[in-house]
Amino acid sequence: MTEYGFDLRRRLEARDRNGLRRDLEPAERVASRTRFAPDPRGRGGAVDFDEPALVFASNNYLGLARDRRVQRAAERAIHGVGTGAGASRLVTGDTSLHRALERDLAACKRTERALVFSSGYAANVGTIAALEPDRLFSDALNHASIIDGCRLADAETVVYDHCDPDDLAAKCDSAATEAAPDEQWLIVTDSVFSMDGDVAPLEALCEIAETYGAWLMVDEAHATGLFDDGGGVVQREGLSDRVDVQMGTLSKALASQGGYVAGSEPLVEHLLNDARSFVYSTGLAPPAVGAAREALRIAREEDRADRLWETVERLREGLETAGYVVLGESHVLPVLVGDRELAVELAGRVRDHGVVAPPIRPPTVPEGESRIRVAPMATHDRDDVDACLEAFEEAGRAVGVLP
Ligand code: PMP
Repeated sequence: MTEYGFDLRRRLEARDRNGLRRDLEPAERVASRTRFAPDPRGRGGAVDFDEPALVFASNNYLGLARDRRVQRAAERAIHGVGTGAGASRLVTGDTSLHRALERDLAACKRTERALVFSSGYAANVGTIAALEPDRLFSDALNHASIIDGCRLADAETVVYDHCDPDDLAAKCDSAATEAAPDEQWLIVTDSVFSMDGDVAPLEALCEIAETYGAWLMVDEAHATGLFDDGGGVVQREGLSDRVDVQMGTLSKALASQGGYVAGSEPLVEHLLNDARSFVYSTGLAPPAVGAAREALRIAREEDRADRLWETVERLREGLETAGYVVLGESHVLPVLVGDRELAVELAGRVRDHGVVAPPIRPPTVPEGESRIRVAPMATHDRDDVDACLEAFEEAGRAVGVLP
């Protein structure tokens, strides 16, 4: 390294010393799959096994990323429209396929309009910044894309305690004493928190937003497609007309890529004019649009989410009966371990027993709260769940986290 410049090697060495260095692992053989078989040619990346394995590590919650109908919809979009949109939607990248997906999303989210972005990340940063709030209230465990949106918005940001409406109300109260009368406030929260598996108290947040004349924005990245009519927690709770901005991703249960914002006509018109991540970015690729639209149709018309919830219930019950502490109240099942090395060891043993589920360590979660994130899919059957439970029981005893 030269004596000038950013000295990135030193920064990487510091990561190494602290055990925080991450690497990319080619995982095409496990990504999005319920199970995978070893490649007879012995290829594959770091996520490689000699034995077949069950995958409990994907956000492809409805198992649609490998659904033939979704794959065909992507192919049709490629042949009918092209592999890429070719330009920003505002230039020549707009297609009737994009419009159709946005109509379907708005119907499912029960809003006037929806707008798709090139990712959920882009949807969050672009939307929060474009609203230009004077003051932001953000849950302490909100996703990084919300945090970055708050930074970009250049507004006073107040972080309230995780899922704590009392703390939010107290912070709104104290801000009200110093705020100018015409200030615009935005409260923003994830609905399902993906590392803790818990769910924001949305009704209480709506009440606080209404009391203080603030807008409420809800990130449904981990919930879209899993509740009523393919909607998220906002729909389950019957809050479609009380949440001002509903945001989500197309990349998890909807098995594709891209993000969306759903809300009123003026909100969407404003975003398509002012959200820089929309205006200055190429339109979402047509195969991603086609796949998401078909996945949304399936999520709305079929009972895949019911199958997921049955699997979730059996898994949670089995893990708790075995003696594990399972956090949360959603389809994401974080199995609490505590010590970071122990979490890695347990995940390794679970993997030896044929189940892939990743350890989650600091800085993603606080020190002493390392865990294994078990993410079932609608395509797991009863035998898969039994095999997963057996792997956790045997591995837990082997590393001493179970008696
Ligand atoms: N919000 C939340 C809560 C997320 O978990 C994610 C993705 N991990 C995003 C936003 C970003 O979505 P995308 O992957 O589509 O960029």
